[in-house]
Amino acid sequence: MSLLISSENKPQLLSVSQMTLESVNALFHYADILKPVASRKKVCRVLEGAVLANLFFEASTRTRISFGAAFCRLGGAVCDTTGFTTSSMAKGESIADTSRVISGYVDAIVLRHPEKGAVAEFARATNLPVINGGDGPGEHPSQALLDLYTIIKELSRSGKDINGSHIALVGDLKYGRTVHSLIKLLSLYKGLKFTLIAPKALQMPSYILDEVSNGDNIIEQFSVLDNNVRDIDIVYATRIQKERFSAGEDDNYSPELQLNKRFIDKYCKPSVIVMHPLPRDSRAEAFDLSTDLDNDPRLAIFRQTDNGIPIRMALFAVLMGVESNIQSSLRDTTWKTPHFMGPNDHFTLHE
Ligand code: ASP
Repeated sequence: MSLLISSENKPQLLSVSQMTLESVNALFHYADILKPVASRKKVCRVLEGAVLANLFFEASTRTRISFGAAFCRLGGAVCDTTGFTTSSMAKGESIADTSRVISGYVDAIVLRHPEKGAVAEFARATNLPVINGGDGPGEHPSQALLDLYTIIKELSRSGKDINGSHIALVGDLKYGRTVHSLIKLLSLYKGLKFTLIAPKALQMPSYILDEVSNGDNIIEQFSVLDNNVRDIDIVYATRIQKERFSAGEDDNYSPELQLNKRFIDKYCKPSVIVMHPLPRDSRAEAFDLSTDLDNDPRLAIFRQTDNGIPIRMALFAVLMGVESNIQSSLRDTTWKTPHFMGPNDHFTLHE
């Protein structure tokens, strides 16, 4: 059987390195078909009877809830566990044993773990579909897929193509796993210019830069901003991942690097798309994405989070081999939902 997304011949998504342009396009096609389910206009039951284990051994709100909601919206049911202290790993159980035990209970597994590589270790000990929900400072492939999906949708609304665009990644590029996965995934496209902006201590690891330097894209790095940075099409900010710092490590993050209106006006194209994987750190001293861009239609952060549902539904459908049943299974919903889910959505949400 040839699988659209696989690792060692198993239906598992551990890294974006597994993706090709062909598998990305196919996944996004299924996500498009599933959008009416995400926006609660249609229901779909292709995973009726299936059970997901949503195992989060590290903090999460969006990823855990959206994976759970995506599975439920396909007709499945979800079992959750959160944190080490409430799991048998706190009793010294190995990752492989936990993996085999859970495999006897469920049909698919999403795992988040604080150690890089731990999800791959877990995946080796099961034949079930596994999705990496974030492995420490390693990768976050489903986030990168929903980020890419958002970028393509946002650009296409103004008639633009992703090839040839200028993308700036700002913030903690060392520990921020979302940007590790995103830059790798973006390097599937042609003629991109990457502007990487981070304090010296938090720059993109060289092993990732080596992977994405394909001779076809331009990569420039800055630790302070200068006037040579201009005409950014997409700017993606990341939170400083203080929880991953070792003792004595400091970020030296300067207010000058904060993504805010001043930054946009100075360094970006007027049509810029502003993104962030969230959560944004709202403490003033964090200098994370400013609230002065709230209600600016260029701020795509909630369109981005909304896209997490169709992308994660599409991932489950593909990994569980039911993608060709989606279209015929769609039915109208029987309940009413508001047109906009949030009171300020009319400022920033389209459609
Ligand atoms: N939610 C993202 C992650 O889990 C980004 C973050 O935590 O800053 O990696």
